[in-house]
Amino acid sequence: MSENLDLHDLTVVQLAAKLAAGQVSAVQAATHFLARAAAHEELGAYLCIDREATLAQAAAADARIAAGEKAPLLGVPIAHKDIFVTRDFPSTAGSRMLQDYRSPFDATVVARLAQAGAVTLGKLNCDEFAMGSSNENSAYRPARNPWDTSRIPGGSSGGSAVAVAARLAPAVTGTDTGGSIRQPASFCGITGIKPTYGRASRYGMIAFASSLDQAGPMARDAQDCALLLSAMCGPDPDRDSTSLDVPAEDFSRSLNDSLQGLRIGVPREFFGEGLGADVRAAVDAALAQYQKLGASLVPISLPRTELSIPVYYIIAPAEASSNLSRFDGVKFGHRAAQYGDLQDMYKKTRAEGFGDEVKRRIMIGAYVLSHGYYDAYYLQAQKIRRMIADDFQQAFGQCDVIAGPVAPTVAWKLGEKSDDPVANYLADIFTLPASLAGLPGMSLPCGFGDGHMPVGLQLIGNYFAEARLLNAAHRFQQATEFHLCKPQGAAA
Ligand code: GLN
Repeated sequence: MSENLDLHDLTVVQLAAKLAAGQVSAVQAATHFLARAAAHEELGAYLCIDREATLAQAAAADARIAAGEKAPLLGVPIAHKDIFVTRDFPSTAGSRMLQDYRSPFDATVVARLAQAGAVTLGKLNCDEFAMGSSNENSAYRPARNPWDTSRIPGGSSGGSAVAVAARLAPAVTGTDTGGSIRQPASFCGITGIKPTYGRASRYGMIAFASSLDQAGPMARDAQDCALLLSAMCGPDPDRDSTSLDVPAEDFSRSLNDSLQGLRIGVPREFFGEGLGADVRAAVDAALAQYQKLGASLVPISLPRTELSIPVYYIIAPAEASSNLSRFDGVKFGHRAAQYGDLQDMYKKTRAEGFGDEVKRRIMIGAYVLSHGYYDAYYLQAQKIRRMIADDFQQAFGQCDVIAGPVAPTVAWKLGEKSDDPVANYLADIFTLPASLAGLPGMSLPCGFGDGHMPVGLQLIGNYFAEARLLNAAHRFQQATEFHLCKPQGAAA
């Protein structure tokens, strides 16, 4: 078998080593993944591929290698969720509103990964403006779960998770506002991490809910995530005022640290009634595995877990309604072809450009922010958000990391919840708390549930504990093989 045929089974760490050693060129690697992406179009992972743009970037990476440059991702092809703006590719946010839109600049995260040597394979499918949990809100096409193509891959970073699980990219970027990295990672059997809010710059990430939006990597294992995250993070004071003044770190530095004595908090509220028995069994087995690795389990309580749903679905739409006001047909993106006066132009443009879920959120957001309701909804939600963050601090007095399920069930069937927005919202219950608190969280494969669908384990850390989370995930992955399992058929 030629070396090339196996390229897609390499991790980022392995592929980077081959590139650095000259055993494979960046152009070869990019060509290989472009061919795979083309052969698996039915999965709907990519929204845009531009072979010439990718190969030009790959040739530039090869020139850097030839010049003796050392960079951690030099020549490694990756793909970006289509929420990040890119100069070389269109940026749609999964919306008609931004069909064919081209940004004059690269998002900071994209630029940092390019600086580290990454080559862009294309732009990945997602729910429109990252609003959703199934990728079915993409204005272009649904993405399909490679483990069972009749099922959703999760969302909103659905295309991102599909690309990694089906080996159409070695690693990708995603964004997580209320779970959009962790949940699709869980549903597709891959690894993903959302860092502490403010760690990665939001500059050039098309805004959904600014106080929650965070970028992060999705890859096959924790080691790859650590490598990408190290390149993505760091202050961006001139461009994102909420980016934290915390220097970039090497998140790989403590991957192999022992877990002896690690206190894992197990929140009672994450194991209640709504949790599927199949998911529970996989998560319980993972917790037992951690005990074997030297960790101890500490029962804890996050008493406001349930409230995270109403709180999030007030705050996120409120911020979205404000952020999306910029799409008015004047500044950029779609403009209705026919209209009367200016008001009519706004109305028609927005009616045509936005999908149903986006409109729903804009309406909810405008409502909860309006005079007379602001105190009753938005202000109350902000107060409870603070309490949710305080609950975590209380819990971290007793434990070092928190573990639990990512979602109550495995990936559901396409269409199963598409007429029921509330059913979608409820499924976010375990990812929303960490988002509201701004804490880092990750998902790693920990078993299989109904229909032999992947189950993810969620790890939540205190602020800036990303290295600790990745360490805990890596040690687990050294002792287990779930992250090595790959979907048959779709990923062949
Ligand atoms: N599912 C959640 C929502 O629909 C989270 C989305 C996200 O994290 N971008 O808002």
